[in-house]
Amino acid sequence: MTTLLGNEIHRRVDDVQVVTKKLGTATIFILGIDGTTKEEEVKEAIAREIKVEETDVVVRATRKGKYDELTIIAEVPKAQATPLINRKKIRIGWTECGIRERVDIIRCYKCLEYGHKTRKCAAQVDRSKDCIRCGETGHRGKDCVNRDKCIKCGIQGHSADQIKCPYFKKLGEGIA
Ligand SMILES: [Zn+2]
Ligand SMILES: [Zn+2]
Ligand SMILES: [Zn+2]
Repeated sequence: MTTLLGNEIHRRVDDVQVVTKKLGTATIFILGIDGTTKEEEVKEAIAREIKVEETDVVVRATRKGKYDELTIIAEVPKAQATPLINRKKIRIGWTECGIRERVDIIRCYKCLEYGHKTRKCAAQVDRSKDCIRCGETGHRGKDCVNRDKCIKCGIQGHSADQIKCPYFKKLGEGIA
């Protein structure tokens, strides 16, 4: 996918989601699902593949892409889903779909550091007014029109909340 929308989806998929999830579950993206596929069929295919009940697969969101392809976000039992996550693909109907796990970690809104919550923050620096995308003060990340510049590693081309940040990668391995 080289369209703008494609890139946008890609980007959002790359984003690190700042939530704490139920213990023992993994949140996965199922990418490139044929647009005529019903949510039930996706649940069924996943449940069959990882050998759990269909009720163990909880669909959190469905997004439609430019060519009617679907991305579904689902919560699944982590232990059973791990082989599927490692294989990175699943067949749903006639289509081979991609699988990616969402990485869920805690981020502090004050110092923007990972691994602790805001009220446990011991840092001197307060970056809560800084834009997560470019590091400037005075606007929020969602309103940012600047080029992404990471405030963690200083590199242009990604923001500090994206998993491709080398800083995050180093840290993420232990937490994710
Ligand atoms: Zn902090
Ligand atoms: Zn900005
Ligand atoms: Zn970075």
